[in-house]
Amino acid sequence: MIPGVELVIMGKQGAGKGTQATRLCRHYVIPHISTGDIFREAVRSDNDLGGRVREYLDAGELVPDDLVLAVIHERLEKPDSQERGFMLDGFPRTVNQAKDLDEMLKPSGGLDVVVNLDVPTDIVLERLAGRRVCAECKANYGTERPPELEGVCDVCGGTLQRRADDTDAGIRRRLELYEEQTRPVLEWYEDQGRLVSVIATGGVEEVTDRLIAAIDTQLNRR
Ligand code: AMP
Repeated sequence: MIPGVELVIMGKQGAGKGTQATRLCRHYVIPHISTGDIFREAVRSDNDLGGRVREYLDAGELVPDDLVLAVIHERLEKPDSQERGFMLDGFPRTVNQAKDLDEMLKPSGGLDVVVNLDVPTDIVLERLAGRRVCAECKANYGTERPPELEGVCDVCGGTLQRRADDTDAGIRRRLELYEEQTRPVLEWYEDQGRLVSVIATGGVEEVTDRLIAAIDTQLNRR
Protein backbone atom coordinates (compact mmCIF):
# COMPACT_ATOMS: atom_id res chain seq x y z
CA MET A 1 0.00 0.00 0.00
CA ILE A 2 1.18 3.54 -0.77
CA PRO A 3 2.15 5.28 2.54
CA GLY A 4 -0.31 7.89 3.90
CA VAL A 5 -0.41 11.26 2.16
CA GLU A 6 -1.99 14.60 3.03
CA LEU A 7 -3.53 16.20 -0.05
CA VAL A 8 -5.83 19.10 -0.94
CA ILE A 9 -7.78 19.27 -4.19
CA MET A 10 -8.73 22.74 -5.41
CA GLY A 11 -10.51 24.24 -8.41
CA LYS A 12 -13.61 26.23 -9.32
CA GLN A 13 -17.08 24.83 -8.77
CA GLY A 14 -17.67 22.35 -11.58
CA ALA A 15 -13.96 21.71 -12.20
CA GLY A 16 -14.48 18.04 -11.29
CA LYS A 17 -13.11 18.04 -7.73
CA GLY A 18 -15.69 15.57 -6.36
CA THR A 19 -15.29 13.10 -9.23
CA GLN A 20 -11.50 13.24 -9.28
CA ALA A 21 -11.17 13.22 -5.48
CA THR A 22 -13.16 9.96 -5.30
CA ARG A 23 -10.86 8.34 -7.88
CA LEU A 24 -7.66 9.68 -6.30
CA CYS A 25 -8.74 8.50 -2.84
CA ARG A 26 -9.19 4.99 -4.20
CA HIS A 27 -5.71 5.15 -5.72
CA TYR A 28 -3.93 6.50 -2.63
CA VAL A 29 -6.24 4.63 -0.17
CA ILE A 30 -7.05 7.76 1.82
CA PRO A 31 -10.34 9.18 3.13
CA HIS A 32 -12.11 11.82 1.01
CA ILE A 33 -13.08 14.73 3.25
CA SER A 34 -15.46 17.14 1.51
CA THR A 35 -16.75 19.98 3.68
CA GLY A 36 -19.57 20.55 1.15
CA ASP A 37 -20.69 16.89 1.50
CA ILE A 38 -20.48 17.09 5.31
CA PHE A 39 -22.64 20.25 5.33
CA ARG A 40 -25.18 18.90 2.80
CA GLU A 41 -25.51 15.69 4.82
CA ALA A 42 -26.05 17.74 8.01
CA VAL A 43 -28.80 19.76 6.26
CA ARG A 44 -30.39 16.57 4.95
CA SER A 45 -30.44 14.91 8.36
CA ASP A 46 -31.66 18.19 9.90
CA ASN A 47 -29.24 18.04 12.83
CA ASP A 48 -27.84 20.96 14.84
CA LEU A 49 -25.00 21.64 12.37
CA GLY A 50 -27.50 21.45 9.48
CA GLY A 51 -29.67 24.11 11.11
CA ARG A 52 -26.68 26.41 11.49
CA VAL A 53 -25.34 26.09 7.91
CA ARG A 54 -28.49 25.73 5.80
CA GLU A 55 -28.98 29.42 4.99
CA TYR A 56 -25.36 29.80 3.83
CA LEU A 57 -25.55 26.78 1.56
CA ASP A 58 -28.86 27.87 0.04
CA ALA A 59 -27.47 31.33 -0.75
CA GLY A 60 -24.11 30.02 -2.05
CA GLU A 61 -22.37 31.98 0.73
CA LEU A 62 -19.42 30.72 2.74
CA VAL A 63 -20.13 29.11 6.10
CA PRO A 64 -18.38 31.13 8.87
CA ASP A 65 -14.83 29.98 9.60
CA ASP A 66 -15.47 28.99 13.24
CA LEU A 67 -18.04 26.38 12.14
CA VAL A 68 -15.94 25.09 9.22
CA LEU A 69 -12.82 24.83 11.37
CA ALA A 70 -14.64 22.98 14.17
CA VAL A 71 -15.88 20.41 11.62
CA ILE A 72 -12.40 19.96 10.09
CA HIS A 73 -10.63 19.68 13.46
CA GLU A 74 -13.04 16.97 14.55
CA ARG A 75 -12.75 15.08 11.24
CA LEU A 76 -8.94 15.16 11.06
CA GLU A 77 -8.69 13.68 14.55
CA LYS A 78 -10.43 10.47 13.45
CA PRO A 79 -8.19 7.38 13.22
CA ASP A 80 -8.47 6.97 9.42
CA SER A 81 -6.96 10.39 8.69
CA GLN A 82 -4.42 10.01 11.49
CA GLU A 83 -3.22 6.72 10.03
CA ARG A 84 -3.60 7.14 6.26
CA GLY A 85 -3.71 10.90 5.64
CA PHE A 86 -6.56 12.44 3.62
CA MET A 87 -7.75 14.37 0.63
CA LEU A 88 -9.48 17.63 1.51
CA ASP A 89 -12.05 18.84 -1.03
CA GLY A 90 -13.72 22.25 -0.62
CA PHE A 91 -11.37 23.18 2.23
CA PRO A 92 -9.48 25.47 2.71
CA ARG A 93 -11.48 28.12 0.88
CA THR A 94 -10.05 31.23 2.55
CA VAL A 95 -6.49 32.20 3.50
CA ASN A 96 -7.61 32.20 7.14
CA GLN A 97 -8.68 28.54 6.80
CA ALA A 98 -5.36 27.70 5.08
CA LYS A 99 -3.42 29.30 7.94
CA ASP A 100 -5.40 27.32 10.50
CA LEU A 101 -4.74 24.10 8.57
CA ASP A 102 -1.01 24.87 8.46
CA GLU A 103 -1.02 25.20 12.25
CA MET A 104 -2.98 21.96 12.64
CA LEU A 105 -0.55 20.01 10.44
CA LYS A 106 2.68 21.55 11.76
CA PRO A 107 3.58 18.45 13.83
CA SER A 108 3.44 16.21 10.71
CA GLY A 109 5.40 18.64 8.47
CA GLY A 110 2.36 20.06 6.65
CA LEU A 111 0.49 19.16 3.48
CA ASP A 112 2.25 16.98 0.92
CA VAL A 113 0.61 18.34 -2.24
CA VAL A 114 -2.11 20.84 -3.19
CA VAL A 115 -3.44 19.99 -6.61
CA ASN A 116 -5.40 22.55 -8.62
CA LEU A 117 -7.83 21.48 -11.36
CA ASP A 118 -7.48 24.12 -14.04
CA VAL A 119 -10.67 24.47 -16.10
CA PRO A 120 -11.83 27.62 -18.01
CA THR A 121 -14.92 29.36 -16.59
CA ASP A 122 -17.07 28.85 -19.72
CA ILE A 123 -16.59 25.07 -19.39
CA VAL A 124 -17.44 24.98 -15.67
CA LEU A 125 -20.62 27.01 -16.34
CA GLU A 126 -21.68 24.49 -18.96
CA ARG A 127 -20.93 21.58 -16.63
CA LEU A 128 -22.77 23.12 -13.66
CA ALA A 129 -25.90 23.67 -15.75
CA GLY A 130 -26.04 19.93 -16.49
CA ARG A 131 -24.72 18.61 -13.17
CA ARG A 132 -26.76 15.95 -11.36
CA VAL A 133 -25.70 14.32 -8.09
CA CYS A 134 -26.80 11.01 -6.57
CA ALA A 135 -28.83 11.67 -3.42
CA GLU A 136 -27.42 8.48 -1.87
CA CYS A 137 -23.75 7.98 -2.81
CA LYS A 138 -22.97 11.53 -4.11
CA ALA A 139 -21.67 10.30 -7.49
CA ASN A 140 -21.64 13.15 -10.04
CA TYR A 141 -23.08 13.07 -13.56
CA GLY A 142 -23.31 15.61 -16.34
CA THR A 143 -23.69 16.12 -20.04
CA GLU A 144 -20.14 14.81 -20.60
CA ARG A 145 -20.85 11.75 -18.43
CA PRO A 146 -24.58 10.91 -18.41
CA PRO A 147 -25.97 7.98 -16.37
CA GLU A 148 -26.97 4.84 -18.29
CA LEU A 149 -30.56 5.30 -17.18
CA GLU A 150 -31.91 8.89 -17.02
CA GLY A 151 -32.23 10.07 -13.40
CA VAL A 152 -30.75 6.90 -11.85
CA CYS A 153 -27.27 6.46 -10.37
CA ASP A 154 -25.11 3.85 -12.18
CA VAL A 155 -23.21 3.10 -8.97
CA CYS A 156 -25.98 2.52 -6.41
CA GLY A 157 -29.35 2.99 -8.15
CA GLY A 158 -30.07 6.16 -6.11
CA THR A 159 -32.06 9.12 -7.45
CA LEU A 160 -30.14 11.84 -9.31
CA GLN A 161 -30.89 15.41 -8.31
CA ARG A 162 -29.77 18.92 -9.16
CA ARG A 163 -27.81 20.39 -6.23
CA ALA A 164 -29.97 22.92 -4.33
CA ASP A 165 -27.29 25.60 -4.83
CA ASP A 166 -26.84 25.00 -8.58
CA THR A 167 -29.25 27.84 -9.44
CA ASP A 168 -28.08 30.66 -11.75
CA ALA A 169 -27.72 33.05 -8.79
CA GLY A 170 -26.05 30.40 -6.59
CA ILE A 171 -23.52 29.48 -9.27
CA ARG A 172 -22.70 33.13 -10.00
CA ARG A 173 -22.20 33.90 -6.31
CA ARG A 174 -19.98 30.87 -5.70
CA LEU A 175 -17.76 31.74 -8.66
CA GLU A 176 -17.47 35.32 -7.37
CA LEU A 177 -16.46 34.02 -3.94
CA TYR A 178 -13.97 31.68 -5.56
CA GLU A 179 -12.20 34.62 -7.24
CA GLU A 180 -12.32 36.81 -4.12
CA GLN A 181 -11.57 34.34 -1.35
CA THR A 182 -10.20 31.11 -2.79
CA ARG A 183 -7.83 32.25 -5.53
CA PRO A 184 -5.59 33.85 -2.86
CA VAL A 185 -5.37 30.37 -1.24
CA LEU A 186 -3.78 29.05 -4.46
CA GLU A 187 -1.20 31.85 -4.24
CA TRP A 188 -0.61 30.98 -0.59
CA TYR A 189 0.27 27.39 -1.48
CA GLU A 190 2.23 28.39 -4.57
CA ASP A 191 4.47 30.52 -2.36
CA GLN A 192 5.00 27.47 -0.13
CA GLY A 193 6.01 25.36 -3.16
CA ARG A 194 3.19 22.88 -2.51
CA LEU A 195 0.93 23.70 -5.48
CA VAL A 196 0.67 21.74 -8.72
CA SER A 197 -1.79 22.87 -11.40
CA VAL A 198 -3.17 20.36 -13.87
CA ILE A 199 -5.24 21.03 -17.00
CA ALA A 200 -8.45 19.24 -16.07
CA THR A 201 -10.41 19.24 -19.34
CA GLY A 202 -10.87 16.03 -21.30
CA GLY A 203 -11.97 12.55 -20.28
CA VAL A 204 -12.33 11.63 -16.58
CA GLU A 205 -9.74 8.81 -16.73
CA GLU A 206 -7.27 10.89 -18.69
CA VAL A 207 -7.51 13.68 -16.09
CA THR A 208 -7.04 11.19 -13.21
CA ASP A 209 -3.88 9.84 -14.88
CA ARG A 210 -2.54 13.38 -15.28
CA LEU A 211 -3.31 14.17 -11.63
CA ILE A 212 -1.63 11.02 -10.30
CA ALA A 213 1.48 11.73 -12.40
CA ALA A 214 1.63 15.33 -11.12
CA ILE A 215 1.03 14.35 -7.48
CA ASP A 216 3.62 11.55 -7.58
CA THR A 217 6.22 13.87 -9.10
CA GLN A 218 5.61 16.37 -6.32
CA LEU A 219 5.65 13.64 -3.63
CA ASN A 220 8.99 12.37 -4.90
CA ARG A 221 10.46 15.86 -4.66
CA ARG A 222 9.63 16.16 -0.96
P1 AMP B 1 -19.02 22.62 -2.20
O1 AMP B 1 -19.70 21.30 -2.27
O2 AMP B 1 -17.55 22.50 -1.89
O3 AMP B 1 -19.29 23.47 -3.42
O4 AMP B 1 -19.66 23.40 -0.96
C1 AMP B 1 -21.02 23.71 -0.90
C2 AMP B 1 -21.27 24.86 0.07
O5 AMP B 1 -20.82 24.47 1.39
C3 AMP B 1 -20.51 26.14 -0.21
O6 AMP B 1 -21.18 26.96 -1.16
C4 AMP B 1 -20.48 26.77 1.17
O7 AMP B 1 -21.75 27.31 1.52
C5 AMP B 1 -20.24 25.57 2.08
N1 AMP B 1 -18.81 25.28 2.27
C6 AMP B 1 -18.17 24.13 1.91
N2 AMP B 1 -16.87 24.18 2.25
C7 AMP B 1 -16.68 25.39 2.83
C8 AMP B 1 -15.55 26.06 3.38
N3 AMP B 1 -14.33 25.48 3.40
N4 AMP B 1 -15.72 27.30 3.90
C9 AMP B 1 -16.93 27.89 3.90
N5 AMP B 1 -18.03 27.33 3.39
C10 AMP B 1 -17.92 26.08 2.85
